[in-house]
Amino acid sequence: MSSSVPPYPRKRFGQNFLVDHNIVKKIVARAALSPHETVLEIGPGRGALTRVLCQVATRVLAVEIDEDLFRNLQDELKAHVNLELSFGDALAYPYTTLPPHTVVVANLPYNISTPLLFKLFDARASVDRMILMLQLEVAKRLAAKAGTREYGVLSVLAQYFADVDVAFTVSRTCFRPRPDVESAIVELRLKPPCEMDRPEDIQQFVRVVKAAFSHRRKTLLNAMRDAGMASDALKVAFEGTGIHGGRRAETLTVHDFQRLARMLALA
Ligand code: SAM
Repeated sequence: MSSSVPPYPRKRFGQNFLVDHNIVKKIVARAALSPHETVLEIGPGRGALTRVLCQVATRVLAVEIDEDLFRNLQDELKAHVNLELSFGDALAYPYTTLPPHTVVVANLPYNISTPLLFKLFDARASVDRMILMLQLEVAKRLAAKAGTREYGVLSVLAQYFADVDVAFTVSRTCFRPRPDVESAIVELRLKPPCEMDRPEDIQQFVRVVKAAFSHRRKTLLNAMRDAGMASDALKVAFEGTGIHGGRRAETLTVHDFQRLARMLALA
C-alpha cells in the first residue's frame, strides 16, 4: 500500500474495508454482470471489490470521497484501463449521466446508506439493479413484508421502486476494522420508469406512506389526519378503496398504499 493511504480508517466516512476475498467473489457472482452493462461502485476504498469488478466488467465507474484513498487507487489500479475513478461525494454524483443498464455494486458507507438509496431510486432510468452491502437491520427493513415488525416507510418505498431480496448475510469478521453491526448483501432490481407512476403521483405516494406511518400506534385515519390530511378526503379514500381507516399502517401492502394514494389524489 502506498504512503498516501491514511494510517487509520476514517470513521466519519464509514470505512470498514472488506478483507475476505470469498465474500468479494460472492458479491461479484451475485451481480451476474453482462458485457453490455456498466458498473458503478460507490466508495471503492482500498479497491478490494474494484479489482475483481475490473476483471469481469467492460466498464467500471467508481466514486470515492476520501482523497488519500482516491490517490492511492489511481496509482494502484492504473493498469485497469476500464476503470474511471472520480473523486467526490456520492450524494452529489450526477446519476442522470449514467449510461443505460448500469449496475451498482458497493459496500456502502452505512452512515449515508438511506439517502444514497433514494438517489439511486431516482436514477432508475439508467440503473437496472443494485447489489449492496448494508447494515443487516436496514437490509431486513428493505425486504420486510406487511405485518412484520421490520415493515415500515423504508420497506414500502423500496418495494415501490424495486424488487428486493436479501442475498446473504456477512459476518463482522470479514471487515477491517470490524463494524459494530451485522451486514448483509441486498439485491434490488429496479422497476423501469415506464412501469412507474408520474412524478406527481410518486410524490403523493411518498406523502401518503409517510403520513400513514407517522404515528405507528394510531389507526390509519388518526395517523393520517394528525399528519395534516383532511378527514373528509380520507373518509372518501377509505370508502373508495375498501381499506378500513381503523387498520394500522403496517397491515397495508405496497399495492394497498398505491390504491390509497391514487384515491386521495382524486378526493
Ligand atoms: N469498497 C471498499 C471495500 O469494500 O473494502 C470500501 C467500503 S467502506 C464500507 C465505504 C467507502 O465509501 C470508503 O472507502 C469511504 O471512504 C467511501 N465513502 C464514504 N462516504 C462517501 C461518499 N459520500 N461518497 C463517496 N464515497 C464515500
